Formats: sequence, structure tokens, C-alpha cells
Amino acid sequence: MEFLYTYEGMRLEFPLVSPEEARFVIIGVPFDGTTSFKPGARFGPTLIRHATLNLESYVLDYDIDVSQLPIADIGDVSVVAGDPRRTADRVRETVEELHTVNNLAIPILLGGEHSQTLGAVEALKPKSYVVFDAHLDLRESYEENPYNHACVARRIAELGVREAIFGVRSGTREEVDFAEKNGITWVHARDYDFDAFVELVEPLPEPVYLSVDIDAFDLSLVPSTGTPEAGGLGFWDIIEAVEWMVKNKRIVGFDIMEVAGESIGGITALTAAKLLFYFLGAMGRGLLNP
Ligand code: MN
Ligand code: MN
Repeated sequence: MEFLYTYEGMRLEFPLVSPEEARFVIIGVPFDGTTSFKPGARFGPTLIRHATLNLESYVLDYDIDVSQLPIADIGDVSVVAGDPRRTADRVRETVEELHTVNNLAIPILLGGEHSQTLGAVEALKPKSYVVFDAHLDLRESYEENPYNHACVARRIAELGVREAIFGVRSGTREEVDFAEKNGITWVHARDYDFDAFVELVEPLPEPVYLSVDIDAFDLSLVPSTGTPEAGGLGFWDIIEAVEWMVKNKRIVGFDIMEVAGESIGGITALTAAKLLFYFLGAMGRGLLNP
């Protein structure tokens, strides 16, 4: 099928299937129009796809080859330069188009600014939003734009979606107050552990949208991201949480956002690519052994 707003970019080097036949559909969102500090998230989708070339498609600890899964890669969304709302509209329409031909397909966004998660959530209408992020992203507006990356969790909460945020170590008092008043739970990176994760996520209603702002990981794993923050989570912290989610919750959408980078083979994209393979592997394990 043809998508209104996507164009041929780099694709995963897998034996891909069509969007109609796919269970997982990769959508790149090369938008970095409201980046506040470190630019380059527009290169995230390409850098993540390229970094997968370094990885074995066989996930050792799952005994599963992710290249054998029904995966489509529909390229990148054509962005509206500098306009996060209109670009997120294109993300929403792309996911809606996908679901008109295959409503079982799980979109996997590779980004690109976190602002773009809003479009996928608007299309998928999950009941809960579980996110790993160094930041609360609960600002009413930032740099005079309510669709700035720093506002995405706020816009999603306003849709009536329940939220839990993990790995946080940056926010304002106003964001903390908004979370408190609106029943949004979050765990500071210092206090994070697996039990804390399960305790907050277990009661959340399904279906769930799962988002990883790459800056949730410790800075040493993700030096190239829009707003880097020291003191983050370890690699296995997030992988084990993703595994639990896949096993215990119905996930309707997933993303890996805020991957920037200056060069091919960079650390941040390698971390993101490995996370992508673990997500696919965990989901694939469920498909093969339901
Ligand atoms: Mn962040
Ligand atoms: Mn974020």
C-alpha cells in the first residue's frame, strides 16, 4: 500500500513483509524541529536502522531470530519543518492508514523528537501510556509551543490516558504538581527498581502504549540525544521492564525516541537498536509461544 506521508528511506535489512501482512510496522519520524539543546534527532531513524546491521538478528537469551518475524518498514514520515503539531498529524494519519488495512499491526516509531509520540497515541487511543524518560514532559507549553517535546506527556494526559513515567531526574515544580493533581505516577531514576515498576504498571488499564525516550538510559549509553541528563537507568533495567510489559500487558504501540547522533556507528543508536531487537524478540516469543 501507499502511505500519504511516507517516503522511501533506509529500511531494516530484514526479509520484510508488506504492511498488510505485518505484525510489526517500523515508521521513522525524522523530526527535530523543537530540539532545545543537542540537535540531530532527524537522523535517529536512519542511525538506528543502520546500527541494526551490527547486531545478530538471533536474540541469544530468547532463542529467537527477529528477522523471521512478520515485520514491515514503511520508511520515514515526511516532516513539516519546525512544526511538531502538523508533523504529529502526519504520524497520526500514517498510523490510521495502516490500521485501515491491518488493524492488528503494531506500529513501532523510531525518532525523532518525543513530540511525535502524540500522533501515534492519538491514532491508537490506548488507555494507558507507560514511558521511560529522564524528563516528566508535563509542561503546559515550552518555548511558546504546546506541542514541544517537553509537553508530550501533558498532551497525552489531557486525552484521558493514564500515565506512569520511569527514570525521571528532571522536571519543574509545576510539572510535579500537575502529576500529583492528575494521578500521574512517576519514579525517579534514583529510586527505580523492577518492583517499583511492576507495582505502578500492574493496575494500569489496557491497551497500553509503551514509549522509550532514549534519554532515560544512563548518559554513558546515550550521549547523543536532544536533552542529555546524567544519572539514568541501566540497559537491563529497561529491557527487563519491556519484557514484563510484553508478557503482561496488551501493547498497541511502541516507540524509541530522541535518538540523535553525529555519525554512523554511534553509541546512542547502538543502544536503541539493541532495545529494538529485544522488543521485537519479546513480542515474537509471545507470537511463537502464545
Ligand atoms: Mn527526555
Ligand atoms: Mn521525552
